[in-house]
Amino acid sequence: MFSAPKFEKSEALEFKSIQTANNKSTKSLTKSQKRRNKKREKQNEQTKETPANKINKNNKVKQGRIEKSKNAKKGKAQQLQMSAAKLKAAAAQMLNQTNDDELESMETESQQEKDSVNSKINSFAAKLKEELKGGRFRFLNEQLYTMNSQKADELFKQDKDAFEAYHAGYRHQVAKWPINPLQRIAKMLRRLPRSLEIGDFGCGEGKLSQMIPHKVYALDLVACRPDIMACDMANTPLSTQQLDVAVYCLSLMGTNLTDYLLECNRVLKINGLVYIAEIQSRFEDVRGFIKTMEACGFELVKKDMDVKVFYFFQFKKVRNVGKVAKIPNFTLKPCLYRKR
Ligand code: SAH
Repeated sequence: MFSAPKFEKSEALEFKSIQTANNKSTKSLTKSQKRRNKKREKQNEQTKETPANKINKNNKVKQGRIEKSKNAKKGKAQQLQMSAAKLKAAAAQMLNQTNDDELESMETESQQEKDSVNSKINSFAAKLKEELKGGRFRFLNEQLYTMNSQKADELFKQDKDAFEAYHAGYRHQVAKWPINPLQRIAKMLRRLPRSLEIGDFGCGEGKLSQMIPHKVYALDLVACRPDIMACDMANTPLSTQQLDVAVYCLSLMGTNLTDYLLECNRVLKINGLVYIAEIQSRFEDVRGFIKTMEACGFELVKKDMDVKVFYFFQFKKVRNVGKVAKIPNFTLKPCLYRKR
């Protein structure tokens, strides 16, 4: 059987009607008071902090706070975002400007550097080119002075650029001399009758024919112009005793000098004149040279040894010698030009 447990005294519940100031006995109130009370109660009911209301209210407050903090945060974030964006934009602008400026200055600097490097390279290349040209000229020059004319002819035939290279160097050399010996010879030739026919042996670029009014047969191992005859001056296509004058301006190169002189004797008329200009330093033995000329049928007319750097000789053909004459070999020293 179920029996209700007995209450201890302290635990005994006491039911009392709770009377608050607002909760007076309704019996003693008037009707209008009752109505007012009811209204108040209703209002209280609505504003009463029920758990639901509390939650709602709390939420509202919370939401408000959240909203507020959210909004505040949002605002701050927006502000931050804005200032970040502004900063970013400013930085970008600065960066752009700096980059542009820097780039511009870098470009200018690098352009200047490039220009100076380029000009250095160019001047170095030009110098190198000049040195190579000079070197090539000196090499060719030495070859031409130390080999016989047949070999020299082969050299020019094998190396098509050699003639131009040689003459580029030669022009450079001529410009350094106090006088151009060809001009001096041309001056002497202009005094001669125009009817005379002149052979320019070893004419190079054929300048003499452009300097005088005479008929000039220009000959060289290489013909750089159509009016120049390409041949070895030891064996020319000229007729026997065809010429009145023979010119050798710095062209007595090669080791077979006597071959040139015998060919000269063949193509020159009796009393025909021979003009020779050579570098002084080539003559170890001027008397020996004159003797060789005599052996080849020529007589000395005059010599000019007072001009700086060069000797000038004028000979006259006095007899026919014939190409097969046995003449003791005579050579002039090679003219070796110094490095520029
Ligand atoms: N007489 C010219 C060129 C002098 S340079 C002047 O005064 O401007 C010397 C020239 O002689 C070169 O052109 C060279 O090719 C030429 N030469 C040297 N040996 C020769 C030879 N055996 N036959 C023809 N020309 C020769």
